[in-house]
Amino acid sequence: MAFKDVAGNVPIKKILKLALERNRVPNSLIFSGPEGVGKMDMALTLAKTLNCQILATDACDACPSCRAIDKGRHPDVMVIAAEVRDVKIEQTRLLKQLAYLRPMTGKRRVFIIEEAENLNDPSANSLLKVLEEPPHFCHVILVTASPFRLLPTIRSRCRLLAFSAIGREEIEEILLERDFSKEQARILALLADGNLERAQELEWDEVRALKEGSWALFEALVSADHSSQFLERFGAVPKAVLEEFGAVLEVISSFARDILLLRLGGDPSLLLNPDLERRLREASGSWTVRQVLGVIQEIDFVLVELRGNLNKGLLATTFFSNFGELRHV
Ligand SMILES: [Zn+2]
Repeated sequence: MAFKDVAGNVPIKKILKLALERNRVPNSLIFSGPEGVGKMDMALTLAKTLNCQILATDACDACPSCRAIDKGRHPDVMVIAAEVRDVKIEQTRLLKQLAYLRPMTGKRRVFIIEEAENLNDPSANSLLKVLEEPPHFCHVILVTASPFRLLPTIRSRCRLLAFSAIGREEIEEILLERDFSKEQARILALLADGNLERAQELEWDEVRALKEGSWALFEALVSADHSSQFLERFGAVPKAVLEEFGAVLEVISSFARDILLLRLGGDPSLLLNPDLERRLREASGSWTVRQVLGVIQEIDFVLVELRGNLNKGLLATTFFSNFGELRHV
């Protein structure tokens, strides 16, 4: 994978490429950011570029060094995966010993520590010495979704690059390139919430069931007689169902966006749910633009609040009553 193949995070690619051009890649780096946004891809691409035998500011993906790193078999590039909760002290001791040895076959030694927030204190302290006085040929990349769980002494010695979520449209494009259908790519990108890995892991049958269930709830919300179904489902809910609440709201929001598009005479090829075009057209007759905009805003508000600590059952009840009011504007 070369830099152009790493999804999203263009500003970080620019910083790294500039550093490579000037031969000034920091020896101690933190790649922080949400899950599934390409931090490990970027770290491996940087490790390959630092050792590439053909290119200077990108990975060629073809030379023996790039290929060995792809296979996890390069003697100078080590990925420490924290599958267990704690990175073992032996691993960081080994890292410490290797860090000061000149690279064996490559140009640079690169250590990538995955889920670095799981470093326990002895491991972190052992690593600290390397981060304090790194040899010029050694790079340590700490990859983490929770940089604030790293010791402050570690953070202060590293250059932190903060990755952001990948945009919905970009995820959609990548999924299309990877042979997902247009219908699948649209809705998976929407539900993935900036997480490319999640987009690829979602089970299509479950997504389809979620869409059908959400449509039923949407129709119930809109109808005067059955709207209580929504409250029965989400009014007083255990935690497990709350994740579903967020997903259902995302999907209902996509219905509202589609209805808005149709109301405004937009191009149907831009529908988020092209498979539901007929139903959406039928539904769109009963909505004004102002009502739909109100629903979209209300859902955006609830989705932000859902990530906080508000009483979620209360949030569902409030959403329900606000939705009812919007319908009667
Ligand atoms: Zn190469």
